[in-house]
Amino acid sequence: MHLRFFSIILSFLFIYHCGQAQTKSFTRHDTLRGSLSPLRTCYDVHFYNLKLKIDPDKKYINGCNSIYFKIIEPTTRIQIDLSSRLKIDSILFHNETLNYERDSNAVFINFKKVLAQTSSDSISFFYSGNPIEAKNPPWDGGFVWAKDAIGKPWIGVACEGDGASLWWPCKDHPSDEPDSVQTIFSVPKGLKCISNGNLEQEVCDKDFHTYRWKVHYPINNYNVTLNIGNYTEIKDEYIRPDGTILDLRYYVLLQNEDKAMEYFQQVKPMLKCFEEYFGKYPFPKDGYAIVETPYLGMEHQSAIAYGNKFRKNMLGYDYIVIHESAHEWWGNNVSACDHGDLWIQESFTTYAEALFVECIFDFNTSVNYLLRQRNYIKNSEPVKGPSNVNYHYWKDSDMYYKGSWMLHTLRSVLDNDSLWFSILKDIQQQYSQKQICSDELINFISQKGMINLRPFFNQYLLHTDIPAFEYKLKRKKNKFYLVYRMRASENGFSIPIKLKLQSGKTITLIADQVFKKVELEENDLKDFKIPTDLYYISGEKLN
Ligand SMILES: [Zn+2]
Repeated sequence: MHLRFFSIILSFLFIYHCGQAQTKSFTRHDTLRGSLSPLRTCYDVHFYNLKLKIDPDKKYINGCNSIYFKIIEPTTRIQIDLSSRLKIDSILFHNETLNYERDSNAVFINFKKVLAQTSSDSISFFYSGNPIEAKNPPWDGGFVWAKDAIGKPWIGVACEGDGASLWWPCKDHPSDEPDSVQTIFSVPKGLKCISNGNLEQEVCDKDFHTYRWKVHYPINNYNVTLNIGNYTEIKDEYIRPDGTILDLRYYVLLQNEDKAMEYFQQVKPMLKCFEEYFGKYPFPKDGYAIVETPYLGMEHQSAIAYGNKFRKNMLGYDYIVIHESAHEWWGNNVSACDHGDLWIQESFTTYAEALFVECIFDFNTSVNYLLRQRNYIKNSEPVKGPSNVNYHYWKDSDMYYKGSWMLHTLRSVLDNDSLWFSILKDIQQQYSQKQICSDELINFISQKGMINLRPFFNQYLLHTDIPAFEYKLKRKKNKFYLVYRMRASENGFSIPIKLKLQSGKTITLIADQVFKKVELEENDLKDFKIPTDLYYISGEKLN
């Protein structure tokens, strides 16, 4: 999902690490939001039509979301989620008002008769109020009611973690993405409103300007967004090596128009790299778009939030652009099925940053980039979070950096780049526009790699210790030996470690939990080094 704030500092500046590990406790609200009770699994959303009027002076929204769904199991009651601070005006079903009860941020809606299986139906959910304001966007979500440099309203909303239901009613669980979404936003005349997908209609009345946008693909609820401000649109095209074209659009504040066209030229080489590694841009009908925002960034699908103030790093790129765009593949095309599986989105995206560096520069520059990421690994909490609760533990960044190193290590373990890159593409193809859980992904990679990777993933996802390559250098008579093993929490954890020796020779040692011995040349034992630039392991010399 989104980039933590110290990631920008990874732009090769000095690094200041601010996160503190904390133990997270879960509330009833987290369970209602994060678990799949029968009142949620009984229906499957296929379309949202969200229509809202936004009043910046009063920081007030009101309108209706029409929720189109199929019934999976016959039911008389369903759960929809909406922040308890927003008022429900009415819920209509075939023009009749429905009864409901609220429990924290869940709304339990009662139908007057049983909704039969396989039927397709819809409810219209009218609501209004002052949505929560973001304290620290994008990490602590909510609305951002900002002003631009010339005093015009500049409004956005970021809600990953907190959930889309903080501002619109929906089935707020990652496992159920609608097949498409329409948003219709009315904003005060003189302001533009940018949402996801394509702008299909603009209507002006006396005081308000209404924008209708359409997303043609499945989308995570938290990616549905609005951006209101004094925007201008810059149109561009990415012409692929095969001659096909992808539409690009950059929405920036009017005063930034001149620099933006030049600045976002970095998008084209980036798309070329990502398409080579992961396959074609997943949402061609909607096009690729960046929207300047008053907060740092977020992977809003086909409307990527960008707020890094046009700052490039020492390599000449803007890592908010790179990271958030990589999410179009990892997170938006292939999405995690549960909050506990968010590592799938962030680990691959953070690793994609390093692949981008490799693509533009070379492998060594990318390893140097990864070594900077490695400084941030904390090993205080497992990378994989608990399932069935609304887990969004942004204070621990290991699903980003440790996840990235896990994938870098896996590439070294497979030691076959054509296999590794085909696996990345295969995941994108197999799970395109789908939600995937950890187990299924691990099985898929194991099958493609023809190796049981369960202990490997378990070690890095479920344990906090770094696997330690323990070794002794021994001399017996005139022979020289390396005695070694891998110490790790996960039973059965074993990886092949490729060692480059002083003699120039390369050997591969299968390191598991049992000590083994290999004979080496005397010279090989001098200045003996463990390749911690290629594997996320530590080297521990025993006496
Ligand atoms: Zn992210």
